Amino acid sequence: LYNQIQDLKGNIRVYCRVRPFLPGQMSNMSTLGRIDDQNITIFSPLKTGKDARRNFTFNKVFGPLATQEEVFSDTQPLIRSVLDGYNVCIFAYGQTGSGKTHTMSGPKELNEKTFGVNYRALNDLFCLTEQRKETFTYEISVQMVEIYNEQVRDLLNDGLNKRLEIRNCSNKGLSVPDANLVPVRSIEEVIEIMNLGQRNRAVSCTAMNDHSSRSHSCLTIHVQGKELTSGYALRGCMHLVDLAGSERVDKSEVKGERLKEAQYINKSLSALGDVIASLARKNAHVPYRNSKLTQLLQDSLGGQAKTLMFVHISPEVDALGETLSTLKFAERVATV
Ligand code: ADP
Ligand code: MG
Repeated sequence: LYNQIQDLKGNIRVYCRVRPFLPGQMSNMSTLGRIDDQNITIFSPLKTGKDARRNFTFNKVFGPLATQEEVFSDTQPLIRSVLDGYNVCIFAYGQTGSGKTHTMSGPKELNEKTFGVNYRALNDLFCLTEQRKETFTYEISVQMVEIYNEQVRDLLNDGLNKRLEIRNCSNKGLSVPDANLVPVRSIEEVIEIMNLGQRNRAVSCTAMNDHSSRSHSCLTIHVQGKELTSGYALRGCMHLVDLAGSERVDKSEVKGERLKEAQYINKSLSALGDVIASLARKNAHVPYRNSKLTQLLQDSLGGQAKTLMFVHISPEVDALGETLSTLKFAERVATV
């Protein structure tokens, strides 16, 4: 385990995942060219010659047939490092409908096969703490918040309208100290907590049917460990973030509340891109303060922390413009 951690240290990785065609979609209308372990080619059917194809390279590319299990197993070493006291951040980025929630949580019909990264991560941590119980004791607890229009709300508390403050450098390692912190010991408890979070997210959106695509949701896993013989104590933290949809909205077409939402999303996603890019370039100044999202994640971005971005794309021709801008964004944040 230690060797794997050394490899990952200080690294920003970018994984690309392609959603399969959905039942009923015309799979001949695809923009996908060759896909291998680290490369993906995108076709633009309306262009000719060398402009018609563009290749992108990432740390890993998961094609449409990749299973939840395969996606998780590549992520596992990173997740496990939280038990050794590292801070980790995992994001899902992409346009609405590209599979972010599928990767992080799973589809509506949840079972052992379809569980997303969130469930698998916690389950894996439980297994590992059980294996280490002769030498270490661990306490694992979770928080779940959402950021909507630059306001942070607790998803594990019924006082939904209470706005939460973000505080960095708090002595307990909590960036949102007032959000409910719930201890979890089993996958059953995790499922219960996730359901509560999803219900609370739904309750807050009576006026908008697609609220979830316009807010960022963040599951934070806090780990406190103690080595039994020496008494040595450690703390690790992992943020698992299902970002708001990255699609650009046409300013001439939306007004009022929708325009405001779009501007907030745009601002926070570019702030995230700027932070990751400046970390990748090892800049002295990292612009964390430009959005609530980057403030929330500050302790787990940069320094000794490890970051993984899953960028999601849809295969269909209609999505071509968003697919290319998603992949260009991903290229920009990938380590140079
Ligand atoms: P997003 O959260 O990015 O808006 P979703 O995760 O809700 O997108 O995915 C949109 C639809 O596509 C859902 O019905 C989801 O179950 C399905 N889907 C996404 N990714 C996959 C995948 N890898 N395999 C099968 N179905 C998928
Ligand atoms: Mg979603």
